[in-house]
Amino acid sequence: MRQLLRAVVLSVIGLGSAGTALAVQPAPDGLDPVEPYLAFEEGPVLIEHVLVLDGTGAPAQPDMSVLLEDGRITRLAPSSELDVSGSVRRVDGEGRTLIPGIVGAHNHTHMPGAPLLQRAASRLYLAGGVTTIRTVGAASPIADLAMAEAAETGSALSPRVATSAPYVSGPGDAPVMVQPASEDEARAFVRRWAETGVGWIKLYRRVEPHIAAAVIDEAHAHGLRVAGHLCSLTFEEASALGIDTIEHGLVSASDFLADKPEGECIGGTVPNMAHVDAGSDAAQRVFATLVENGTALVSTLAIVESRFAYRYQGEERIVRYLAPAFQEAYEARQAQLSQSASETDASFDNALAFERAFFEAGGLLAAGIDPGRHNLPGFGDQRNYALFLEAGFSPAEALQVMTLNGARVVGREDELGSVEAGKLADLVLLEGDLIADPQAITRPVLVFLNGRAYDPAALLDGLEGQVGLQ
Ligand SMILES: [Zn+2]
Repeated sequence: MRQLLRAVVLSVIGLGSAGTALAVQPAPDGLDPVEPYLAFEEGPVLIEHVLVLDGTGAPAQPDMSVLLEDGRITRLAPSSELDVSGSVRRVDGEGRTLIPGIVGAHNHTHMPGAPLLQRAASRLYLAGGVTTIRTVGAASPIADLAMAEAAETGSALSPRVATSAPYVSGPGDAPVMVQPASEDEARAFVRRWAETGVGWIKLYRRVEPHIAAAVIDEAHAHGLRVAGHLCSLTFEEASALGIDTIEHGLVSASDFLADKPEGECIGGTVPNMAHVDAGSDAAQRVFATLVENGTALVSTLAIVESRFAYRYQGEERIVRYLAPAFQEAYEARQAQLSQSASETDASFDNALAFERAFFEAGGLLAAGIDPGRHNLPGFGDQRNYALFLEAGFSPAEALQVMTLNGARVVGREDELGSVEAGKLADLVLLEGDLIADPQAITRPVLVFLNGRAYDPAALLDGLEGQVGLQ
């Protein structure tokens, strides 16, 4: 009803043309205001009798109570021991699971064909339980900086954002990517972006090794960190240069390509995935190098999965949020996939095993989604959870990868990423028991950011057919 009233009002004042009525007036910086999406007024909240999966990898704790005050988790104890008097909003956690807000460590505010998704992505991420994102390669870095500030001050709707500069690549890559001609130019690029306040530089597949080395050195000298979607550099080479995170897992590992020319990217690495054994000496050596150098690996299993015709290809409840042109592209792609060979090979299983083996080797593994195709903000993060379980992670381990490990990657593990007293109140209340029912990850009933409670249904309401347009 609320949507309908808005549509009527907007069409009267002439903004509702072409069937793309804006759901709300944008806040001054181009983002949505917060108020329409809040589940209830601000103030202390006590979540009672809830199953807590705290994000640290520890076992779930049943029948807990959690007190949120002034944007922080102030108390956490068995319900029988936590006695709170005074004015507090009580939320029944019976039959529900409380988890940390998801930290999406490779979660852009753009996707192919849609460079400016800030508004829709903010709603989708929060509705999906994602309270922090690392953009790791930006199409619109200044807009992302505005989001980051809005999230911390609460002035507009946005998840927290670890921001990044535009992509840096090498000759022959997409024109939208910066391709420094010299090390001096690469260093000047880093200094210029450091001044804006971004936190990360993203290296892309064709970057030349000496340019990568200059970027990493200059970034570290200015307190920035560097992520890489690799190809010209192997995981071992980039780790030795001091890169902070490597993206996408096995799909971008050129370490295992036979006859790879040094420093060059020779096409896709996907065909190679079918032949990489995570238990092999070669793979174990890569893991040991990354662990020794403190290089994190950021998984993007949901988008990797979408490459394979025989795997999950989205569903109507997700696709309906896409703008019409993107829905058409989705349907065309599904028709094409259904005609392609449907036999399986070992590629995707190997990708799962690679990440599990890295984790078991003591590596810092985080997760994100790299939005695209039907892999939408929030929904894709939820899909990752199912894929980690398939890869052999326990529920507590899968959640740790998606929460506390992400907070470690963005350098905020002291204040984010787990359900612990003293931390910021970024939390997700799920309908159901996440241990007994993995699908509970798809059912957030309240999403807390800075202690404010958002209503996922309100965040999604009216967004159908919009993603790609706003
Ligand atoms: Zn990406």
